[in-house]
Amino acid sequence: MSDKQTKTDVILIGAGIMSATLGSLLKELAPQWEIKVFEKLSDAGEESSNEWNNAGTGHSALCELNYTPEKSDGSIDIRKAVKINEQFQLSKQFWSYLVNSQMIHDPQDFIRQIPHMSFVEGEKNVAFLKKRFEALANNPLFQGMEFSDDPEKLKEWVPLIMEGRTLNEPIAATKIDSGTDVNFGALTRILFDHLKRRGVEINYKHYVKDIKRNSDGLWEVKMHNMDSGTIEHHTAKFIFIGAGGGSLPLLQKTGIPESKHIGGFPVSGLFMVCKNPEVVEQHHAKVYGKAKVGAPPMSVPHLDTRFINNEKTLLFGPFAGFSPKFLKTGSNMDLIGSVKPNNVITMLAAGVKEMKLTKYLIQQVMLSNEQRMEELREFIPSAKSEDWNIVTAGQRVQVIKDTEAGKGTLQFGTEVVNAADGSIAALLGASPGASTAVHVMLEVLEKCFPQHVKEWEPKIKEMIPSYGVSLVENPDLFQDIHATTDNTLGLVDHRKTDMLQEA
Ligand SMILES: Cc1cc2nc3c(=O)[nH]c(=O)nc-3n(C[C@H](O)[C@H](O)[C@H](O)COP(=O)(O)OP(=O)(O)OC[C@H]3O[C@@H](n4cnc5c(N)ncnc54)[C@H](O)[C@@H]3O)c2cc1C
Repeated sequence: MSDKQTKTDVILIGAGIMSATLGSLLKELAPQWEIKVFEKLSDAGEESSNEWNNAGTGHSALCELNYTPEKSDGSIDIRKAVKINEQFQLSKQFWSYLVNSQMIHDPQDFIRQIPHMSFVEGEKNVAFLKKRFEALANNPLFQGMEFSDDPEKLKEWVPLIMEGRTLNEPIAATKIDSGTDVNFGALTRILFDHLKRRGVEINYKHYVKDIKRNSDGLWEVKMHNMDSGTIEHHTAKFIFIGAGGGSLPLLQKTGIPESKHIGGFPVSGLFMVCKNPEVVEQHHAKVYGKAKVGAPPMSVPHLDTRFINNEKTLLFGPFAGFSPKFLKTGSNMDLIGSVKPNNVITMLAAGVKEMKLTKYLIQQVMLSNEQRMEELREFIPSAKSEDWNIVTAGQRVQVIKDTEAGKGTLQFGTEVVNAADGSIAALLGASPGASTAVHVMLEVLEKCFPQHVKEWEPKIKEMIPSYGVSLVENPDLFQDIHATTDNTLGLVDHRKTDMLQEA
């Protein structure tokens, strides 16, 4: 068994959207640095970032009701929505920079404009949606949002959802045309192709088994070359663990103090995909509903027009479920293997606290296909079972940690965990996820390379003009950026332009 050894500046573990984004940023900021990527699968973007494994929503809080909770005084808290919208604007700016620099040739290969809508039933939910609309409508980031509780208007907006619907209860929706569908799998592959052309060494079928720190301060990664069956050791000054669900076990192997008292809880997902082109054609929006009681925020049901391989398709879901695997291609031992002496109390505390979630997930796993169809019929009353198939989505590993709210608190966001000296960082969690990859990877740069950020700032601002500036407080800058990025990324309503062309 040969034992290959190499030394490099940067190692990126995992070829998902996060490593793709960090690699692309670093190639612009420090082009002389040598970067190597190690990925256990045979291609990039095959796990959570793959187009069939996530919902492809460009999350900017235009339609996701869980980002605008109702406060105890009945008012709507829009802080999270504003934050996520601002973060998505950073992604759009960086992608526009890559298009303008011809590193991405055709933005339509990964991003399309699609209306984002929220749809609710029942008096209480309609009142909530109206208040949410009023809280957002005058905010510059949410300009263009419309509200309607008129069934005739809703028939215009979502004919498929209104067809055959009995109107026993009030209904309402909001709609904003500037939403997006993002093919994160395609984007990941585009970015890795570009990195390869820029001299980044991308090693597929390399499974990282261990990470340790050597006495010279470098990090050493031990991996299994799955093609040759050999073990390799590669060292680097900086390591990013962008292994998605596989990040927590690798972070634990580093032994850094920051890796302790953290656990992970895997939530699996299923989508229903429509195979009848006539039904697909009748819908043109991403429509988010309200989460059921006890449901985790990431399993809010939604009916989505998607563009995958240049084809329009329709997905409904996700249905949550439980699987002990941390990756779709993971092992049934992942969850149990992540329980360590330093996090066992944290994990047990979460187990006790999250009984409602566990019950919900078990119920979801037990659903029959016909019961799933019943849930779909809450969106499309006329849905026929023969028009829909089930596809297995990606795994999300939610972070469990001790917070001010107590031991073993389940987190629904993304978290950068890094060594105090910035020599290694991992990304945990998966929400809002890929949409905010640029913001999260800028956070990695700020935390791990504070000594370079000042010198990099002019280049970062060239790529991302609103870097460090609040867009909500600078509406003119937002207008400017919104218009230029939409223009560069070709974000127009294709249905309207197609109709104009036909006329
Ligand atoms: C059901 C679902 C719906 C979602 N919907 C959305 C959405 O609508 N919008 C949105 O923005 N985000 C969404 N997300 C979240 C988004 O998909 C993730 O945040 C994002 O794809 C994570 O990217 P990543 O690069 O961290 O991980 P991944 O894409 O999972 O990549 C990690 C890579 O690391 C590799 N790897 C793992 N372990 C090892 C190892 N030991 N050695 C070598 N390689 C390894 C894996 O094979 C994989 O290729 C969704 C996720 C799920 C599961």
